[in-house]
Amino acid sequence: MSILLAASLPPDERQRWAEALRAALPGESLLLDRHEADATAIDVAIVAQPPPGALAGLPRLRLVQSLWAGVEGLLADASLPAAVPLARMVDPQMNRAMAETALWAVLGLHRGGFEHARRQARAEWAPVAQERADEVGVAVLGLGQMGATVARRLADNGYRVTGWSLGPKALEGIECRHGLDALDAVLGANRVVVNLLPLTPATRGLFDARRLAQLPRGAGLVNLARGAHVVEADLLAALDAGALGHAVLDVFAVEPLPAGHAFWRHPRVTVWPHAAAQTDLRSAAAIAAANVRALREGRALAHLVDRVRGY
Ligand code: NDP
Repeated sequence: MSILLAASLPPDERQRWAEALRAALPGESLLLDRHEADATAIDVAIVAQPPPGALAGLPRLRLVQSLWAGVEGLLADASLPAAVPLARMVDPQMNRAMAETALWAVLGLHRGGFEHARRQARAEWAPVAQERADEVGVAVLGLGQMGATVARRLADNGYRVTGWSLGPKALEGIECRHGLDALDAVLGANRVVVNLLPLTPATRGLFDARRLAQLPRGAGLVNLARGAHVVEADLLAALDAGALGHAVLDVFAVEPLPAGHAFWRHPRVTVWPHAAAQTDLRSAAAIAAANVRALREGRALAHLVDRVRGY
């Protein structure tokens, strides 16, 4: 099978992916450039932020396998062949990494980690009142691969967790709500919100001034999904007004976050450089390879994206 790796990655990272994919797919031909061979022979594209148009004009293409979990960038490329199945990265290793990041952020909000850091900067010796985890309500928005793993980890840690998804869900020990009509009530009842939604037309700009105002005063927002879920100016206004207590942000409207952006130096914002759950080359190469083998053997492909829903 002829496989194209189409990735906007630094050369050394691209090389590491190529080596890992070649090791995971012995006997297949992996191209790093579509001009290396006859483009009409390419069966599979393994992609990581491919440049727009990178997958146009590949008549034999039968699978696009993303190395990233989020696919909104791919779906925004009008030249992405409409009829070719698109699979995204689903890796239990990444889900676990996301759960670790979410737990760290929620513990920091609950136990005063971020507040104590502010007090330390002022050499102020003043403990934050200690609360029990079961006194802290945490809303997890999105109950898919990442969200469900995060919700379970937080519940295991004793938090009162409410999950929110598009369709109904049942997760043991977690109150599950669904649909836009339930969102304001979910936000109003929880002191911490962890966002793990995919970026779709329905979720873009979800956290605007009106929605942020539904949260209890002093609440924490943990955005681990996509920057465009949040109207950044509205978030800054809510933080400056003291309506929101703290935001932990891993993702931004523009990445890398521009040097002059207010988030960098805001005392109530913790910035991470889109590192909440990075694709783990060791496991992800094997997962991508398994889908290529499924295609070769005529078996069902895993983790296909529903292009109408956008995730
Ligand atoms: P999934 O597709 O597995 O889950 C998406 C969840 O969101 C589902 O529960 C779905 O509901 C819910 N959802 C989708 N649209 C809506 C809506 N309009 N209203 C309510 N709920 C909705 O995605 P993953 O868990 O794998 O990943 C989530 C996102 O995390 C990715 O799209 C990506 O943007 C981000 N991500 C961030 C990373 C980082 O390092 N910061 C790393 C990896 C991913 P239902 O179950 O009913 O379908």
